[in-house]
Amino acid sequence: MTNHIVNISGGKDSTATYLLALERGVPFRAVMADTGNEHPDTIAYALSLGERTGGPTVEMFKADFTERMAKKRAFVAAKWPEHGVPADVIERALAVLHPTGIPFLDLCMWKGRFPSRRAQFCTEFLKSEVIGSQVIEPARCAGPVIQWLGVRRAESLARRNSPMWQTVRTPGLHIMRFYRPLIHWSAGNVFSYAAACGLEPNPLYLQGMSRVGCFPCINASKPELRAIATRFPEAFDRIAEWEAICAEASKRGAATFFAGDTTPEGASMARSGVTGHRGGEQYPRAHAVAEWARTDRGGKQFSWIIDQEVDGLSCSSHYGLCE
Ligand code: SF4
Repeated sequence: MTNHIVNISGGKDSTATYLLALERGVPFRAVMADTGNEHPDTIAYALSLGERTGGPTVEMFKADFTERMAKKRAFVAAKWPEHGVPADVIERALAVLHPTGIPFLDLCMWKGRFPSRRAQFCTEFLKSEVIGSQVIEPARCAGPVIQWLGVRRAESLARRNSPMWQTVRTPGLHIMRFYRPLIHWSAGNVFSYAAACGLEPNPLYLQGMSRVGCFPCINASKPELRAIATRFPEAFDRIAEWEAICAEASKRGAATFFAGDTTPEGASMARSGVTGHRGGEQYPRAHAVAEWARTDRGGKQFSWIIDQEVDGLSCSSHYGLCE
């Protein structure tokens, strides 16, 4: 029997996909990877879907970096001295390199840096790998799988050619097909469909958020960051704490969540060759980004979400794991 699996992010598209699976009457599992960087309302919303709709309860999965961090500690102790890393830097890294149980933070400590648009390893390690190894592979051992993904072409340039169906064959495993039922939908269609099904959207949309996956996402636009900085400044406090911890775990003693050129000041420092290395300026820190993000006018909730489609700002994953 074919196993239908719906990927949930807590956002509007995966919710509409869940509702569609329910409407079509196929038995399915709904699964979500908890990155540890979501707003609590997003997790609560996802967990409430079953109760609100009569559908299956969303099953949560998490990455565990215990083993990888143990190997990294051994590597730091054995190899960093050979690389000429000062003893105090090694000692500091070894003191902090222990799993916290927060997947996003543990991943960044293990990597010694935050992900970026060019090195978007967060999607791979916190979502694809987790759902792949803990859900999809075991399901494909039992039978064919159809993965329902809330991907729309209108979302971003990166997804403009995504197919509705895609087949994956892997030796030793049953066939898997990706299914993107919303591929031709607009954001407006998605909100209308959920409303017609009697389901309120994730409350964060009503508070000016256009994306409700990671909070914030490394790909967040200025208006998204402004909305977070204005309504949820504690999210930036958390990111600032993570920056301090990751800096300790990093060989260069610096780590920022946002790319160097996020703020105009950071971009100009990068152009003039200033680096974020220990002893130098670390930029742009989370609070500086929050301050910069507040320097313009606000957005317009749903209509603004619709307006910003195909602007290339969304996650480039074709699998809809990040909204
Ligand atoms: S939502 Fe953004 S920060 Fe989170 S895993 Fe996806 S790309 Fe990375």
